[in-house]
Amino acid sequence: MYSACSGKFQSPINIDMKDVLHVKLPPLRFEGFDEELEDAILTNNGHTVMVSPKDEDSDDVKVKGGPLKGAYVFKQMHFHWGMNDSLGSEDSINNQSFPMELHMVFWKESYGSYEKAIEHKDGLTVMAFFYEITMNTNKAYKPLISALEEVKGNHSNKHMEDLPALKKLLPQDRVHYYYYQGSLTTPPCDEIVTWIDFTESIPLSPDQVNQFRRIMDQNHRPTQPVGERTIWFNVGPGELIMPYQQESSATTAASNKLSSLKDCKEIIKISYFQLSIFGWNILSILAVGILITLKRNLRNGMLNPSPSHEYATVPRNNATKPIFSSLKQLPALA
Ligand SMILES: [Zn+2]
Repeated sequence: MYSACSGKFQSPINIDMKDVLHVKLPPLRFEGFDEELEDAILTNNGHTVMVSPKDEDSDDVKVKGGPLKGAYVFKQMHFHWGMNDSLGSEDSINNQSFPMELHMVFWKESYGSYEKAIEHKDGLTVMAFFYEITMNTNKAYKPLISALEEVKGNHSNKHMEDLPALKKLLPQDRVHYYYYQGSLTTPPCDEIVTWIDFTESIPLSPDQVNQFRRIMDQNHRPTQPVGERTIWFNVGPGELIMPYQQESSATTAASNKLSSLKDCKEIIKISYFQLSIFGWNILSILAVGILITLKRNLRNGMLNPSPSHEYATVPRNNATKPIFSSLKQLPALA
């Protein structure tokens, strides 16, 4: 019925940290996240519980920057969970699942509406946040979780006026994230989503998570094949872009992942930067070597004009050794 659900860019996926490519992107910018969501609707749509702004045409809440080209407008947020604490999230990291996951869905503003945006490959972005179980109650979630009691029936909803600002529902670290191209995780599974998975988890108490399980047992889709896709990891300002840690698997992963021109361009950017630094190092070493050689030649020439003496006193190997030892440190650029 939904042929798109068997495509090659499906979500969710498992993110294997050793296979991700590190990048440093411009900061994500969050607009309207400091304002309280005064008029929102909480809906049980039979698949999940969802919070959406009452004024669906409102473009007060937006996200820009990072891997996104243009602004994306907030549509709704919803939750995925599992029967017990060992599962529930949709994406997993190193095959580890989390007990719950939040999806905040945004549509690309330049397409004019959500309905038009979903006709385009870059129509949606979903910001995903994982939850972890802690002993403390997360106070910011109290209004939302108390209201779950009133949307137990399928297709029931409730008007909410007491939700806190969105940023209070989210972790503080919104700099470190994975991103990749994927799909909606529910039918029709359209492959139109830029997924942004943040690394810092949101804490909830065991009782808070159990309140979601009272709505339905579970609602998470199993992970789908990553295939030829690249998964990127954004490092923070001032942090180093780490090359692949494991050379053999990295080389394989890198060759597998050079699947599109866009990916190549990103890698060339990083490699160009590393090559420039290496090039300057080589030039500096050569310059110092030449200066030392000239100085010694000059001194020796003044003391003894014999050309054979030149070779005896100028330690060629020593002059070139730093160059070759630097070459060994050259990171794999392919
Ligand atoms: Zn979802």
